[in-house]
Amino acid sequence: MKALPKSLWAATASPALSYPRLDGDALADCVVVGGGFTGLSTALHLATRDLKVVLVEANEPGWGASGRNGGQVIPGLKLDPAELRAKLGEERGRRLTATVGATADLVFHLIEHHGIDCNARRSGWIQGAPGPKGFAEVRQRAEEWAALGADVAVLDRDEVRARIGGGDYVGAFLDRRGGTINPLSYARGLARAAAAAGASIHGDSPAIALERVGQRWKLSTPSGSVTASHAVLCTNGYTDRLWPGLAETVVPLLSSVVATEPLSDNLRQVILPGREGVSETRRVLNWFGIDRDGRLIFGGRASQRETEAAQAFSPVLARLRDLLPILGEPRIQFRWAGYVALTTDHVPHLNELAPNLYAGLGYNGRGVAMSTMMGKLLAERVAGAKPEDIALPVTPIERIPFHGWRATGIALAIGWKRLQDRLNP
Ligand SMILES: Cc1cc2nc3c(=O)[nH]c(=O)nc-3n(C[C@H](O)[C@H](O)[C@H](O)COP(=O)(O)OP(=O)(O)OC[C@H]3O[C@@H](n4cnc5c(N)ncnc54)[C@H](O)[C@@H]3O)c2cc1C
Repeated sequence: MKALPKSLWAATASPALSYPRLDGDALADCVVVGGGFTGLSTALHLATRDLKVVLVEANEPGWGASGRNGGQVIPGLKLDPAELRAKLGEERGRRLTATVGATADLVFHLIEHHGIDCNARRSGWIQGAPGPKGFAEVRQRAEEWAALGADVAVLDRDEVRARIGGGDYVGAFLDRRGGTINPLSYARGLARAAAAAGASIHGDSPAIALERVGQRWKLSTPSGSVTASHAVLCTNGYTDRLWPGLAETVVPLLSSVVATEPLSDNLRQVILPGREGVSETRRVLNWFGIDRDGRLIFGGRASQRETEAAQAFSPVLARLRDLLPILGEPRIQFRWAGYVALTTDHVPHLNELAPNLYAGLGYNGRGVAMSTMMGKLLAERVAGAKPEDIALPVTPIERIPFHGWRATGIALAIGWKRLQDRLNP
């Protein structure tokens, strides 16, 4: 079992319960692989329907991206409502829009309903636009969501500067449905809630084989097995070879984060006094926020190799200095990284891999709220909802061509996107 990275969240999250290794053979209605938000939400929603669910996690709940992210609860997808309608047709597009518009509501509802202690603040989410293209995009986004009754607004240059205490944005989208959490505390809270509802959760239990036995699925770990009528794979950017082809449906991308020492009181009054989460319309974007104790958390793209070496984080630090010069030379307390999973169609995938075998993944770096919703949708499908009644399309897996060349592809794509960011911000 791998330890948690030495992240801010590992140092400040509410304590973990211990979830024993799966030992011996179990029977269930559904076995879930992966203890991030997707798997934990699936388990919670199944258990509250009185289904017997067993979840196996290779490490501990929240070990993957769910315990490493920026903690920004962002409703919606990268595609806006009109784009979803164009892609899926009027009716399905509208239904998916309603569902993705409600993802932050679901997160904050679960936190309240299950009493999850995770420093949740519904303080809003800002998406800064560095130039005319980005500003046109956020104005369009705000218009579309406002027409649907969402609590959103456009900020002009002075307004966004006043909220952030710096930045190079000509304007921004403000989504008051969003907010921030301590993500590892949230993952641990979801695990506790799922266990309290009757789910069996096992850490240190990597799934190493999955086979069809009669009408059921048998999932094996080194010290046990679960035989269940349904199985759900929730391994996102950490997907391994358990099911052939699943890893090739997404591009895993390492995202790096630094957190400063707690800022002085003076700086806290200037930098994000409202404690919103911030991201950007840039194609290669950075994001930031403030934690419970006033540390600035700043993330983005750096190395594609996981390492604690300070040097590997220098692209993120350079951007931080650029964006918030008021900080001076930031004193960094934590550095860590984690894998996001990108899809080529920019929409998360709910795959049906074989009869009664599902996967939910591919949140494109925006999965805190969406993965929680994905778990709810997966539970609906397992509990018998028809594919056409699920808000996301239920699709077979589609491997990305030339996936083996992804390292070269990522480097080329990022170089190209950075150039576009400079030419057409
Ligand atoms: C640095 C970073 C910052 C981010 N910031 C944000 C943000 O601010 N807002 C936002 O909305 N999104 C953000 N994201 C994305 C978000 O964290 C993810 O979309 C979300 O956590 C995905 O959850 P998940 O449960 O699908 O996957 P994960 O949390 O990655 O969980 C997958 C789990 O599967 C387990 N696993 C894999 N294989 C096996 C196996 N064979 N057997 C058993 N277990 C297995 C792994 O151990 C892992 O714990 C960020 C991601 C990163 C990495």
